[in-house]
Amino acid sequence: MSGSLLVDGIGELVTNGAGEGPLGIRCDAAVLVEEGRVAWVGPSASAPAADRRIDAGGAAVLPGFVDSHAHLVFAGDRAAEFAARMAGAPYTGGGIRTTVDATRAATDDELRATVRRLRGEALRQGTTTMEIKSGYGLTVDDEARSLRIAAESSTETTFLGAHVVPAEYADRPDEYVGLVCGPMLAAAAPYARWVDVFCERGAFDSDHARAILASGRAAGLGVRIHANQLGPGGGVRLGVELDAASVDHCTHLSDADVDALAGTAHRDGSGTRTVATLLPGAEFSTRSPYPDARRLLDAGVTVALATDCNPGSSYTSSMPFCVALAVREMRMTPAEAVWAATAGGARALRRDDIGVLTPGARADLIVLDAPSYLHLAYRPGVPLIRQVIRNGVVQ
Ligand SMILES: [Zn+2]
Repeated sequence: MSGSLLVDGIGELVTNGAGEGPLGIRCDAAVLVEEGRVAWVGPSASAPAADRRIDAGGAAVLPGFVDSHAHLVFAGDRAAEFAARMAGAPYTGGGIRTTVDATRAATDDELRATVRRLRGEALRQGTTTMEIKSGYGLTVDDEARSLRIAAESSTETTFLGAHVVPAEYADRPDEYVGLVCGPMLAAAAPYARWVDVFCERGAFDSDHARAILASGRAAGLGVRIHANQLGPGGGVRLGVELDAASVDHCTHLSDADVDALAGTAHRDGSGTRTVATLLPGAEFSTRSPYPDARRLLDAGVTVALATDCNPGSSYTSSMPFCVALAVREMRMTPAEAVWAATAGGARALRRDDIGVLTPGARADLIVLDAPSYLHLAYRPGVPLIRQVIRNGVVQ
C-alpha cells in the first residue's frame, strides 16, 4: 500500500535518538511514515496530515526488535533432549549433530516452511529484523541451500559451516576446516552477508576459527563469532582481533576479554565497534549461569540481546522474553534491555537504519498493548505486541 501513514496518540515513544534519557523518549508523540521510512517525529498535537492514520490511543511505541542471532534453517525438534536436561543431564552442544541428520534429510520445502513459520512467529512478537544462520547442513550443498532459503526471509544471513565438525569428519577436523574455508565458503558466500564460527571446546578451537573467519572476510563477508559460551577461551579476543561486528554469548569472560571489547570503543563515546551479544534464552533453556551483563555495561561495552532461536539450546523466537530475562536475571535495567534488543541488535549487524525511530530510518515500529516499554519486563509472558509495522507496511 502506498501513501503516507501517521501513527499518532503515542503516549510514550522510544526513539533511541533525540529525546529523554538513553532511549530518547518522547511523550504525546507522533510518527509520520512515507515510502517505508520515518519522515517526521514530533508532538502528536502538531502532526502533519497523512493519507492514513493509526491512533495509538496513549500506548507505547518502540522500534521493531532486531534479533541479530538466530538459527532457523533446520528440521526436527529436540524436546526430548530438553526434558533430559531439565532432569539433570548437562548441555554439551553435541545434540547439534541430531539436527544435522534431520536437516540433511529434509526437502527444500520443509526447511522453507520452518523458516517462514518461525519468522512469522517472531514478527508477531515485534521482531522486524532477524538474522538467520546456516549450520545444520555441513556439506557444500546443504550449507548453500540453507543460506539460499534463509535469504528468502532476511538480508542478514550468516554462513555457519563451522557450527560443529560433522560425524563423517570426526577424526579429520583439519580436513573439514579446509572444506569450510574452500568449496563450502565459495558455494555459500553468494547468499551470505556474514561468516560465523562456533569457537568452543568440542567445536572449533581458536586456530581453526581464525582460519575460517579470515577466509570468510577475504570473500567479502563480515565477521561474527560464537564465543565463550560453555567455558573460557580465546573466542572473544579473536573476534576483536578480526574486527567482528559481534561476539555472541560471552558467558565466561576474563578481564582480558572485557578489556579487549572495551578497547574497540568509538572515539565519540557512542559505544564499542565490536558488540557483545548476550543470549539469555540459551542459559534459560540449558539451566546455566547467565552472562554478567553489568560487568560489560560498566566497562563501556555495547551490549545487544538476541534469541539464539534454535531447536537445541534456545527454542524461543521471543525478544520480549529475552528482555524480561535480561532485566530479571542479568540485572540490566528495563531501558538497557530494550535498547539492547533494538539499537543494540542493529549495532551488532552494523546497521544504522534500523533499531531507531528517527527521520530517515526504516519505518519498523511496534505498538504495545501497554502505556510504557517497562511493561515488556514488568509483564513477562504476556502478548503485549498490539501492532507491527515493517518497512512502513502494517503487518
Ligand atoms: Zn547460536
